[in-house]
Amino acid sequence: MAHLAQKFPGDVERQRRMSIIEEGDVQQVRMAYLAIVGAFSINGVAQLHSDLLVEGLFKDFYELWPDKFNNKTNGVTQRRWMAWCNKSLSALITREIGDQWITQLSELKQLELLVDDASFRQEWSACKRQNKERLAESVKEVCGVTFNPDSLFDIQVKRIHEYKRQQLNILHVIHLYNRIKRGDTANWTNRCVLIGGKAAPGYYMAKQIIKLISNVADVINNDPDVGDKLKVVFFPNYRVSAMEIIAPAADLSEQISTAGKEASGTGNMKFMMNGAMTIGTLDGANIEIREEVGDENFFLFGLTTEEVEATRPTYCPNDIIAADEDFKNVMDLIECGHFSQFEPGLFGCITGSIRSNDDPWFVAADFRSYIDAQQEASEAYQDKERWQRMSILNTARSGKFSTDRTMEDYNRDIWHLTPTPPKDELCIPSR
Ligand SMILES: *Cc1c(COP(=O)(O)O)cnc(C)c1O
Repeated sequence: MAHLAQKFPGDVERQRRMSIIEEGDVQQVRMAYLAIVGAFSINGVAQLHSDLLVEGLFKDFYELWPDKFNNKTNGVTQRRWMAWCNKSLSALITREIGDQWITQLSELKQLELLVDDASFRQEWSACKRQNKERLAESVKEVCGVTFNPDSLFDIQVKRIHEYKRQQLNILHVIHLYNRIKRGDTANWTNRCVLIGGKAAPGYYMAKQIIKLISNVADVINNDPDVGDKLKVVFFPNYRVSAMEIIAPAADLSEQISTAGKEASGTGNMKFMMNGAMTIGTLDGANIEIREEVGDENFFLFGLTTEEVEATRPTYCPNDIIAADEDFKNVMDLIECGHFSQFEPGLFGCITGSIRSNDDPWFVAADFRSYIDAQQEASEAYQDKERWQRMSILNTARSGKFSTDRTMEDYNRDIWHLTPTPPKDELCIPSR
């Protein structure tokens, strides 16, 4: 407080705002402020997150100590998320470009030269196919539902949270079901939708979202009109060992959080490395993934962070729903009890939240652009050669998202340690 008084004489309001102790009926410790005062260096975990911290939450501290703030974009390790969990793809990559990528992920760039090689593309698809068969077996065993590996595998696995918008995903699934029921299936792309993730025990809305996904899955999977056109499961007990089977088998990675809410995401990186396409918003590390892979290899939709803020004061989801026939049909189906036949009104809290002018997650605002981006993905999947190329490019351009790069960033800017090369045998995973 003394330092503040010296730097900004007379600015008592600033001292109040920045105090580690919040005054009020009950005094509280502002833990993040305490951490900033005590820290040598403070970073967000993706560029957008780092920018939002210094423009918003920590603006005053940034003005006081601009040099303390920086960015360190997250990464994941290719030793676990490629070499260990995707043996067939790793062997194919190593055969073509050697095994340097295991300790230097940017080496994957060399794969770009192979996208024009038809026999390589064929082998690439064969690996994906094998991984999809392995996941289908697991889904059969765990959920009792048959996934056809020829279908587009559309996957959203992450903690259940309203900002991650599993509810938007299920609205799209219901829209597809609606299209099948009304016979609107020209040029249809068969899809298997897998949603998985744990909810905090006391998070009522998250538990309701899981219930809605499960009920929608029951209706769709048991409707003979639907068949292989659409399958849906809620995959229980999502965990790292499950992700090791799931990531290698994904065609489409769902990264659909409300812009500005996902600090980075790391699931998005695991999927990209394993050759999945992303459908996503401009949020967290999605932005950097799209920068690396190119906008022609990313299915973008939704409001930007700035647009979300601009929409907030006049947001009226009921007008959006009423003006969009597809959206209206989806909401009607949930609200008439089609997915809760013996428990009418079961999902009132979910539909009520989507219809609320105060919905902080802007589900309705992004519905139409999400549906359109999903349609683009469906059409792209029908062009096998195009999809194979995009898949290879996703892996080839994922080099930035190795945690080795993250550690090098920390070391260059903060730690200044001398690297000690690892012993070779420790680099190669084996069981
Ligand atoms: C990677 C991972 C996460 C993080 O996923 P996000 O999509 O980034 O939220 C969560 N849980 C498990 C088990 C993971 O493997």
